[in-house]
Formats: sequence, structure tokens, C-alpha cells
Amino acid sequence: MKQAAECGGDGINRVSARSAEQSGLVKALSRQVEELIVSFGTTDAAARLAGLCETIDGRLVFTTSFGLEDQVVTHLIATQRLPVEIVTLDTGRLFPEVHALWAKTEARYGLAIKPFYPRHDEVEGFVREHGINGFYASIAARKACCGVRKVEPLGRALEGAAAWITGLRADQSAARGGVALAEADAERGLVKFNPLLDWHREQALAFARANEVPLNPLHEQGFLSIGCQPCTRAIRPGEPERAGRWWWEEEAAKECGLHLGPDGRLVRVKPAPEVAA
Ligand code: SF4
Repeated sequence: MKQAAECGGDGINRVSARSAEQSGLVKALSRQVEELIVSFGTTDAAARLAGLCETIDGRLVFTTSFGLEDQVVTHLIATQRLPVEIVTLDTGRLFPEVHALWAKTEARYGLAIKPFYPRHDEVEGFVREHGINGFYASIAARKACCGVRKVEPLGRALEGAAAWITGLRADQSAARGGVALAEADAERGLVKFNPLLDWHREQALAFARANEVPLNPLHEQGFLSIGCQPCTRAIRPGEPERAGRWWWEEEAAKECGLHLGPDGRLVRVKPAPEVAA
């Protein structure tokens, strides 16, 4: 009995220690988020990225999928020689044009972009269970495929990172409408940073053209947002720019899981009240 009671006590102590640790982490992240928003909320994207590097100690990671916005961010990082690791998730189902652009981008900026691949045993398991194109069968199967090919490799790419830079824009879709410059990702223990949050697509396009940023030729064929080949189609005139992603699904369900919190919602900025206190 005594032993059981002691074990129970240790368990409770461990839980309390973990929750105290978690709460300390959230407070620390929230402070950094607040500082970034106050300092760089109204500066341009180049200054935001440089400011992030000055503000946050530790490993800074930018995940690119070589879309328009990601290419702009790569340009800003490379031309300012910022100490940011540029990584990409090669799902195994990308367009050949994406691989061509990957090589072109490395050559243009003299970079080595670090690839993360899915675990082969997990891909084999998914395909055995669902079939090679099993993601069309249900939302659950599609999310499982994204989980194996994108979310798990992303976890490895961000391991130990202090900040995660993305090319998200708030006006890309209704789901992304609440995206802000910085947010605390307590789950991953890092700050998520979106330097193009208030950019419009036309602005990104004009910047890319003016600076000779290499772009995916598929953009010109109506592929405004480009993911895996079997899950992306060109959009029709008047359609929202992400309408071509998982086009067979309802609009509300369309995120791959990379930017979702544990509750399945798009992660949003929550400057914590305790920061202001
Ligand atoms: S976008 Fe399609 S192919 Fe790519 S990981 Fe998700 S479901 Fe799989």
C-alpha cells in the first residue's frame, strides 16, 4: 500500500512538474511572440526576417514547398544571408516541376535545401492498407496519407527548432484569415513566424518578377497553390486560390495538418494575457 501510495505521489508530482514546465514554456513563447509583433508588425518582410534572427536564439527553420510565397521568403533569406535552415518535405508525390524548381533555386542562390522524406515503412503500410491512391477514398484516408508523407517528416524537420518560418498569407483562404505575424506553438515548443501574413498574391508576384525569383511554371497554367500532384488541380476563373487543393473535399476540411493544432484547427496567434500583466 505504502509503495502504491508513493508511486501515486510521484506520478502526481511528475504531472505537476510537467504542467509547470509547460506553463513556463507557454509564457516564454508568448513573451517572444509579443516582442516580435510589437517590434516587427509594421516593418517590411525583409526586416521581419532579419528581426526574427536577432530576437530568437537557437535553430531557425524555414519550410518551403517552392510555391510563390515560399520562393519570396527564400529570396529574402538568401539575399540577406540570414542564419536560417531551409528545409523541404519531399512527399514522394510531387510534380516534376517542383523538383526542377528545387534544383533551380539551389543554383540561383547557392543554397543546399535540406530534404525530409517520409518513413518508408509508414508509406508502405499506408499503401498496403489503402492502395496507391487511397487518399481519394475518404477524408480520414487523405489525412492519414498527409500524416505519413507530410506531418511526421515535418516533426523531424522542426525537432529542436526555436522558430518555424512559413510563407502563409492571411488572404489565401478563409481558414488562414486569422494568421498573424507570430504565434506560440506550445505543442512543438517554438515560435511560428509568418513574415508575409499581410501580403496579397499580386504583391508577391510583383516582388518575384522584379527580383527575378525563380517560380514554378505551373502557376501560369492555373495552379496557384501547388501540393502533391494527385491532390492538386488548376483552378477555374473566379475560384479561390486554394480551390485546386483536395478539390474533391468540402472547403472546410482542406488543410494538410502542417498548420493545424492538436484540436484540428488552424493554429492562431494567441498573445497570452499573462504577457501583458
Ligand atoms: S497531398 Fe495527397 S498525396 Fe500528398 S500527402 Fe496529402 S493526401 Fe498524400
